[in-house]
Amino acid sequence: MKYIYLDNAATMPINNSVLNKMIEYAKYYGNPSSIHQAGREARKLLDKSRAVIAGILGANTNEIYFSSGGTESANWALVGAAFANADKGKHIITSPIEHHAVINTCENLKKHGYEITYIPVDKYGIVDIDAIKKAIKKDTILISIMYANNEVGTLQPVHEIAKIASEHGVLFHTDAVQAVSNVPINLGELGVDMLSLSAHKFAGPKGVGALYIKQGTKLSPFIYGGEQERGRRAGTENVIGIVGMAEALKIACTDIIGSGAKIAQKRDRLINGIIDSIDGAQLNGHPTMRLPGNVNISFENTLAQALLMRLDSAGIAASAGSACASGSPEVSHVLLSMGVPREKAKGSIRLTLSCNTTDEDIDYVLGVMPTIVKECRSSAI
Ligand code: PLP
Repeated sequence: MKYIYLDNAATMPINNSVLNKMIEYAKYYGNPSSIHQAGREARKLLDKSRAVIAGILGANTNEIYFSSGGTESANWALVGAAFANADKGKHIITSPIEHHAVINTCENLKKHGYEITYIPVDKYGIVDIDAIKKAIKKDTILISIMYANNEVGTLQPVHEIAKIASEHGVLFHTDAVQAVSNVPINLGELGVDMLSLSAHKFAGPKGVGALYIKQGTKLSPFIYGGEQERGRRAGTENVIGIVGMAEALKIACTDIIGSGAKIAQKRDRLINGIIDSIDGAQLNGHPTMRLPGNVNISFENTLAQALLMRLDSAGIAASAGSACASGSPEVSHVLLSMGVPREKAKGSIRLTLSCNTTDEDIDYVLGVMPTIVKECRSSAI
């Protein structure tokens, strides 16, 4: 049976070259902190991977810190900045459409006396820049706004926000887990102080990521222990995962613009095809300022879970938004924050394409979708 994987924002299948490289390098078993030959070999792999990642992202090598993934990086950025700058203030600015890695960390910081301001977004999911300016106070220490939203794919004006933050002497973290490899990023120009990324979102291995920390940024460690990562993130490094992450980033960023344009063409054909063939189907997110592979559509009078089950039976893997939201009956906090009515939000699904998605895949989805939606609607009555 056909199997079409359209949940690339949740995770991507590991790239074969990445996997082969990881297998090839698995023989380097040394602990990078050991001084003997095996340790030095592993250390060399770490240094090389760090240099590759820094080079691709336009950062200095000593600004890349390895972590266990996007969630840890975002937690570190927020908690680390909050603790290290508590003497200056306890006010943090973020948005209501962030991933739970950011929102739940902020909510936890609230319990420790921090004040969180959520900046509203418009109907496309773009944050209100003027509201950010107005929200900055004397005791504001951090702004955290995601680069690209994981549910609706909307891209934020990160350059502008970075400028505002810097003018006010406030740190700026961006969760770029969905943006890295989809949007060209030059950290030398972007102006952010911290940026989170995760390897499995660009066809690398799971459980490994990085936090970019601009030189001079005041940030407490998040994990305490040994002196790894220049004393800022303890724990023996996931050498083989890091090697895989560097290789995956290299491959994914070889031709971001060209590959993004090809994916976006298929994305737009899928969006237009669905909207033209199904009554009561509406695109969520910005029509153009969105990730090349993101399609998020509300189908009136349906339930996402029913749509997803039928799509799965037809060999199509999709999701209801963020990975953690799928499988739970919760309505998307992102769509509600964008003003999508609850009833519509309940019938919204996300289809995320990658460079592996073919024109035939799109044809197949367009072919089965009207029947699936019709069946869901009639069974809902
Ligand atoms: N931030 C965003 C925007 C994400 O999409 C995700 C994963 O879905 C994360 C953070 C968490 O990343 P990880 O799965 O590597 O912990």
